[in-house]
Order: sequence, then structure tokens, then C-alpha cells
Amino acid sequence: MNSSPFSFVEKDKRSKGDDRVRASVLWAALWLLVLGGLVACGNPALPAATLPSDNPPVGAEVPSAPQKEDEPPSLPPDPENRRLVELGLRPYPEEVEKGPLPANEKGRIMVLMYHRITDDGKDQRWTRTPDDFRKDLEALYERGYRPINASQLVDGDWDVPPGYTPVVLTFDDSTPGQLAFTPGDPPQSLEEAVARLDPHSAVGILVAFHQEHPDWKLRATFFVNGNALFGVPEEGTIKLQLLDALGFEIGNHTFSHASLKSISAEATVKEMGLNQKVVQEAVPGYRMRTLALPYGIWPRHLDEAIAGTYEGVPYRNEAFFLVGSHPTVPPGDPRFDPYRIPRIQVVDESLKLDTTFPYTWLTYFDKHPEERFVKGE
Ligand SMILES: [Zn+2]
Repeated sequence: MNSSPFSFVEKDKRSKGDDRVRASVLWAALWLLVLGGLVACGNPALPAATLPSDNPPVGAEVPSAPQKEDEPPSLPPDPENRRLVELGLRPYPEEVEKGPLPANEKGRIMVLMYHRITDDGKDQRWTRTPDDFRKDLEALYERGYRPINASQLVDGDWDVPPGYTPVVLTFDDSTPGQLAFTPGDPPQSLEEAVARLDPHSAVGILVAFHQEHPDWKLRATFFVNGNALFGVPEEGTIKLQLLDALGFEIGNHTFSHASLKSISAEATVKEMGLNQKVVQEAVPGYRMRTLALPYGIWPRHLDEAIAGTYEGVPYRNEAFFLVGSHPTVPPGDPRFDPYRIPRIQVVDESLKLDTTFPYTWLTYFDKHPEERFVKGE
């Protein structure tokens, strides 16, 4: 049973490897051109004495070919790829070879749930080490899974090539290990923020993984608490901006991680709306669309949990994500309820907990690939 996904993966990896080599050579060449251009036209240390004293008179014909060669390469036309390149990252390939699994758009999809990314050894039940997180990505990649954001799942926006399976990575509680920078003052620009990503933070690992595998898009949903944005208050704004700029989704997890069963309707509006306010102050116009229920607890005041207005700021949660325990059916399936989307906790295999990843569900789909959602043409 295991042979079908793995045998295709090997073939797939070979062709991807060739593409990667070609893409790397191309990009190396392009960057050499850019560097050449910078050195040639922007180096202020170029001694004046080396400039030719016999400049041609104005209007004289000047050979134009060398200047053209020195021009930096044009940016990719696709806006998202242009943004990636501007941030110093590799663009997504324009075309990816179709995966070999037969289409199955009625199959199930894993929504994975992470909390802390750290190797501090504490709280193992809610922690994934950076090394294990990298291994999760490798395992998913090799088996033909590709990431989409939580709201894309809700929309049925299958942003993966035909023959591949979408997977949703979610991160709750905006903990420090999810997004951190190397030591120093807060970055002053998004470019600096990308360059200074802590390589052991979840975002640092995801970005490095994309650089290595350009067809692994920067997709994941971070369900944030506005009162605890990744542990460093003065970096909260640029971190939210960075998530958005890279293509990740920001989702609601209430302002203060409130238990929605035990607070008033008014407090529910504040928990949702104040969090929305914090996010849109950092990223103007950003509307969070998805909510992860704190502790997985169902709200006492459902209407207020779904939509409302706080201090003039409207919010609307179009979907709720639960805690645990199995893959979801896709929208369109009569069993799909956007307000009860199950997730799968990612825990160490040694805990041998049922209903978790990778212990139960990765293995399950290895044995039952016919139950996976696979995108069609
Ligand atoms: Zn939480």
C-alpha cells in the first residue's frame, strides 16, 4: 500500500531537482547582473580619475549595448513573486509539473495545529522542536502535500498544482518561537526583517524551506492574541506586517486568550474587536476572517463571536477552528461546517497519542492515499 505515494515522489523529486538546478542557475545569473549593475553604476568610491576625461560631446552617438547589459533584470510580472524578490526571496515557479496522484476532490484535508516552536524541553504536549518542525515539512513535501491558508480552505481555493494535496499549518497564541528575529533592535524595514529572521523560529524555518523548495509557498495561518504578539511588544507591528507581506494569514484568537464560555456578550465583542483593531492598526485594511477558539471552547454568545463592531471597528469571523482531532472534509461536502473545522495536534511521536500528527494521521494517509484530497485539473 505504501508504494504508490512514495514511488511517485521519487520520480517527482528527480524532475523537481532538475528544475531547481535550472532555476538556481538562472537566479544566480540574474543576481550577478544586478550586482554587476550596482557596482558599475552605484559605487561612490569609484575614483574620479578613472572617469574618461574625453567625454563624448552631447548628442554624439554612444554605444548602447553595454548599458543595456548593465541594467538590472526586470522583476517578475506576478505581484506576489515581485514582492518575494523585493524581499530578497525566491519567486514561486510559474509552472509546476502535475503530481501523479489521481484527482480526489472529495477526500480529506489535514489542518495541523502548532503552539510553541522551541527546544526548551518544557511543556512537551504543546511544543514542537525546530528540528521536528523541519522534519514535518520534509515529510509533507516528499509525500506531495502543499500548504494553503485556513481561509483558502474555507473558500475552497485550492492553490496547489493538480495532483497535490493541500495541507493547512496553523499556529496559535502568537508565542515567541513562532516569529523571532536575531538579537538587536527591532528591524526598520521588511527587507531587514526577512534578513534577520531567527532561523529556529517557525517563520524562519518556513522561509528557509521555501528558499530550498520554491514550490513550497509561504502559506500558514497565525491565530494571534493582540496582548501577546510573539513575546516582544515593540516588534508586534512589524511582525504582523511581515506575516502579511510574505503571504501568511493572520487569524483571530481573541485579544487576551479569553475562554468564550464564561465571558459576557459585551466582553466577547471586545475580545474579537480589540484584536481586529490591533491587527488593522499594524496592517491597514487587514480583515481577519478566521478564528481559532481559545482552548477549543464553544462561545456562550455565538452571534457576538461571529460578528460585531468594537469602538467603530467591525469584525467578522467566517469560520471557527477547533482543537483536535481528525482531518476535515472539504467545503461542499454536506458534513463540512465552517464553524466546526477540526484540526490535528502535532506532538512528539513518543507520546503515542491518537488523533495526532505525525503519529496517527501522516501514517494513516500513507496507508490510505485514496482518502486524501487531491486537486484535479
Ligand atoms: Zn490558544
